[in-house]
Amino acid sequence: MKENDGVHGEHVHEGEHEEHGGMEHEKHEHEGHSHAKHHEMMMEDFKKRFIVSAILTVPILILSPLIQNFFGFELTFPGDRYVLFGLSAAVYFYGGWPFLKGMRDELKKKLPGMMTLIALAITVAFFYSAAVTFGLPGKTFYWELATLIDIMLIGHYIEMRSVLGASRALEELIKLMPTEAHLVTPEGVKDVPVSELKKGDVVLVKPGEKIPSDGLILEGETSVNEAMLTGESKPVYKKPGDTVIGGSINLEGAIKVRIEKTGKDTYLMQVVELVRQAQETRSRTQDLANRAAFYLTLIAITAGAVTLGAWLYLGKPFVFALERMVTVMVITCPHALGLAVPLVVSVSTSLSAKKGILIRNREAFERAKDVQVVVFDKTGTLTEGKFEVTEVIPLDELDENEILRYAGALEAHSSHPIAQGIVEKAEELNLDVYEVKESKVLPGKGVQGVINGREVFVVSPGFLKENELWREDERVKEVLEQGKTVVFLVIDGRLVGALALADKIRPESREAVEKLHEMGIKAYMLTGDNAKVAKWVAEELGLDGFFAEVLPHQKSERVKELQEQGYTVAMVGDGINDAPALIQADVGIAIGAGTDVAIESADIILVKNDPRDVITGIHLAKATYRKMVQNLAWATGYNAFAIPLAAGVLYGYGILLSPALGALLMSLSTVIVAINARFLKV
Ligand code: ADP
Ligand code: MG
Repeated sequence: MKENDGVHGEHVHEGEHEEHGGMEHEKHEHEGHSHAKHHEMMMEDFKKRFIVSAILTVPILILSPLIQNFFGFELTFPGDRYVLFGLSAAVYFYGGWPFLKGMRDELKKKLPGMMTLIALAITVAFFYSAAVTFGLPGKTFYWELATLIDIMLIGHYIEMRSVLGASRALEELIKLMPTEAHLVTPEGVKDVPVSELKKGDVVLVKPGEKIPSDGLILEGETSVNEAMLTGESKPVYKKPGDTVIGGSINLEGAIKVRIEKTGKDTYLMQVVELVRQAQETRSRTQDLANRAAFYLTLIAITAGAVTLGAWLYLGKPFVFALERMVTVMVITCPHALGLAVPLVVSVSTSLSAKKGILIRNREAFERAKDVQVVVFDKTGTLTEGKFEVTEVIPLDELDENEILRYAGALEAHSSHPIAQGIVEKAEELNLDVYEVKESKVLPGKGVQGVINGREVFVVSPGFLKENELWREDERVKEVLEQGKTVVFLVIDGRLVGALALADKIRPESREAVEKLHEMGIKAYMLTGDNAKVAKWVAEELGLDGFFAEVLPHQKSERVKELQEQGYTVAMVGDGINDAPALIQADVGIAIGAGTDVAIESADIILVKNDPRDVITGIHLAKATYRKMVQNLAWATGYNAFAIPLAAGVLYGYGILLSPALGALLMSLSTVIVAINARFLKV
């Protein structure tokens, strides 16, 4: 598990990267610690600096004339102002160091932000006071400076803690991975760390324990809880030969599992990696937030300067005006703004991962909230994609078994659901299939290869028509009328047989279509299969429309046409033939155990074969967006009352904020953003 310790969202801490600048990275390289650890180290650093500064603040307060006046005592001794200066300098340099350093990093990146503001504020306060100590007429500012730094330090500490909480979601995924396994060896069962497992090892998993890594059941029957991994809430029954996922919980029986994948290759780690990558991809909302943060910094500096000028103009002492300026700059820190979006992203990616919805592309996921049309692929998406051969129809000299020998041989080289159905039928009848040379998949059409020196095809009706091999036949017509999928065997340019296959509509599909309609979203179907089957499925499900006998490139054209009509389109598919359409769509969604090509082309992956997850995904996208907007609105909007308050507009009513109180409010606004993000739900 070593290599995975650091995966928890780099991106999450983006806000902090900006604010603590390069500090974190330098440490990272030198000490080689994981990111999560750093975060904790930084937290400790803030805590230490806070404690030291707070202790130093006590004598500063006692020595301050204003405080003495307030509590009605007097404490003076020769040179006391130099002591005050010394203590304050210590607080400024030691407690203020993270901010000063942060400013340097921000300016180096030409991106003044949060740290620049704080550093500027404390620097102005300190040097002005120092000048007064050494002769400039005026009043010092030391206790305000010290308390401001204290509050900033503790505020950062608290914020980092809440941020850590929000970003832990990804870590929770990693924590699903067990650490120990019972390895079966010739000498008996031995407990070993999971990291030592190798492919081919056999492990024993007792009831109630987690499956240590992805593998295959060799012995024993059980049911497994995969809820945390795929969102499937019901226990899944497993028997020898079935695959199990590392991290899922073995519920009933003891099983022996042969390890198939370890470390980074396991399902769970791939999910973690996907989630991490998704968190790193920039989203439009994040860009917006970053730009806003930059402008807010400029506004803060301007507002500070205006405040200073205005109070001086109104005839207030310089120290009063300066204090207001510092408060304005502190309260306007765009800290909450920097974290508003990353925190939501972090919570939403891991939340959706737990529901079996993997987000690969955040920008597309953001678009999912606006989807108006969902286009489904038929086979394997709306239907189960488990074809069963129901009829074999000889159309030439070959008999049924012979047709299956040829077709089964070719289909062994294809991963299409039709292919699996045919292969299974040949196996069922114990037929020895032929050997194939030069096999080739024709996406959306069929397969091709050389058997016994003859050119063999198993193809769609469309392919036959295209090549003028189509022949009317009563029996073929009949199975087509029944809404079956029919493919044809062609040998050396001659049509020799037809195979009819039946598939089942997924029971979840109907509900998915209904729910989409409730949301005002249209549902279409695209299929390479024949129009009769397509029509039957479309009517069964109440679809808004369908396109049949479309080739892969036509699938993407259909999607494009819908887009040209002004719709935001999501495409849901599983096959190689869907890949171009997945790319073309505004949101490409690969379903279930889809082919790798489909997964690579998709923006979102649904782990389960459940079309209803499309709806969950859309809901999640909407909820995520709402949270982002709420956070952004809060993080910017709070300035509307904070800035005037800090500037002292309510001074006439006796309300005046000290810089420390300003810092407190600023930190509070960030904590609110973090808490709000954590409450994301669907
Ligand atoms: P869908 O869009 O329904 O997922 P495809 O585009 O994958 O279907 O396939 C379209 C048609 O091409 C199928 O209905 C079938 O006629 C034919 N076809 C595709 N792959 C194969 C195969 N491996 N064997 C036989 N026919 C195939
Ligand atoms: Mg398909």
